Amino acid sequence: MKNLLYVFIGMVLLSSCGDMNQELIIPYEGDTEYKFSMDLGSIMSMAGAVADEMDEEKEEDIDISAIMNNPDKMPSKVDTTILFGSEEFTEGVTLNDREKYLMNKVSMRLDTDKEQEKMLMEFSIKYADLNEKTETLNLISRVTREQKIMKGDTIGLEEEGPNKMLDGIADYILDKELGKITFLDSEVPEEMDKMTGKEKDVEVSPEDLAMMAMMMPGGINTKIVLPGKVFSVKGTENYKIIDENTVVVTTKYVDMIKEGAIKGYSIEYDSGKPISDPKVTEVWDPEPVAVVARDRSKAPSDAIVLFADGDASGFRHYDGSEVKWKVGKKELTAEPGTGDIRSKKDFGSCQLHLEWKSPKEPNKKGQDKGNSGVYFDGKYEVQILNSFENRTYSNGQAGAVYKQHIPLVNATSPTGDWNTYDIIYHAPEFDEDGAKTKSGTLTVIHNGVLIQDHVEIQGTTEYIGRPKNIAHGPGPIILQEHNNYVSYRNVWVRPL
Ligand code: MG
Repeated sequence: MKNLLYVFIGMVLLSSCGDMNQELIIPYEGDTEYKFSMDLGSIMSMAGAVADEMDEEKEEDIDISAIMNNPDKMPSKVDTTILFGSEEFTEGVTLNDREKYLMNKVSMRLDTDKEQEKMLMEFSIKYADLNEKTETLNLISRVTREQKIMKGDTIGLEEEGPNKMLDGIADYILDKELGKITFLDSEVPEEMDKMTGKEKDVEVSPEDLAMMAMMMPGGINTKIVLPGKVFSVKGTENYKIIDENTVVVTTKYVDMIKEGAIKGYSIEYDSGKPISDPKVTEVWDPEPVAVVARDRSKAPSDAIVLFADGDASGFRHYDGSEVKWKVGKKELTAEPGTGDIRSKKDFGSCQLHLEWKSPKEPNKKGQDKGNSGVYFDGKYEVQILNSFENRTYSNGQAGAVYKQHIPLVNATSPTGDWNTYDIIYHAPEFDEDGAKTKSGTLTVIHNGVLIQDHVEIQGTTEYIGRPKNIAHGPGPIILQEHNNYVSYRNVWVRPL
């Protein structure tokens, strides 16, 4: 038993050389499981060299050579599971019922074969929530300390050492209602800082980085098994989605050194719970930066004009009736209470130009100020809102693909000035069974500024809840009436 724990510590200390695999399994209900495993076959052969070097430097009191440099002391084959709650492990330590319960949710498996240089270690902990996880890790620390198995003077570890090592996964925030897990930025493990000289404030040169990348090709593979379908992964590009509900994120050691941190990321998934609160799908951060842009217009000769110069005959209401909005010589203004208007024709993929203007509404704010919107195929809204010095959730401000894509910048004109939208829409594709085979896309240029760069439409732009994907053919262009006197002019479309 004692030997196995020593080996485990040695492996963790050397973990910056080989791939480290961790797995987080989150069920709908019940305990979350965290597994941490390493295939240390290659490290076994490296162990001698590392141990020699450590002996020479005498920097630390880590007597790792005794463990790793003397494989004779290890049996040729080991395949064993240590249950941390077992009497053998907790021998000589007094535990109450709660503590016994927690220790029974921790285990470690070691599978080695000296001849084949196979060495696999897997640590597993189950916990109801993060508080329980911390409680358990502290308990393991206490038990190992009281047993004096991990004696600080032998292996150079402080008392909190075991706790820190076993707490391998970064801090995260889990929202089971919404279906979102956010991993926070975390520090590079101390052992790596020592290896790279960062601890002593030594600048790492590009040559050193290249060398390290060669010496340490591995990284941390984090597999996150979620209880529902994954919607999005943000904050990292190094990920793969497997079987719809599993994400594997790889963080290379060399990137950790470059960044000076292990960068966080977030995953949204289907929580399986109906969403009743519209706030749940609001995103406020980041806030697009405001930029100043100029006005432009004029329909090209091949465009279908939906509204220009007092002629609103390209539109009607849903019931087929004539447009009840205020039709002026130059402008078409939404009339509260009359409802949305839709193009008489259906379009599908198209290029659309329109100009819109927010009314002066000094006493209104947020979503109530100058709200309208333009829908493609009657389903996908690019938001129109007075976002000039009017803060709302970022994925609901002017130019947002509503609740799906935040505009890259906020190019909204001052209240009362005209805005232009030039939008390229590609309709989604569906197979015979109605399943989506290709997402639709939107590109939006607002006052001459690119604010949506060929983004993928996730489904219908819902006020409450997640996007839906129902097969459809070409549909109308809709202008939304949202209780505000938003004006339009020069509305034209070119089918693609
Ligand atoms: Mg709207």
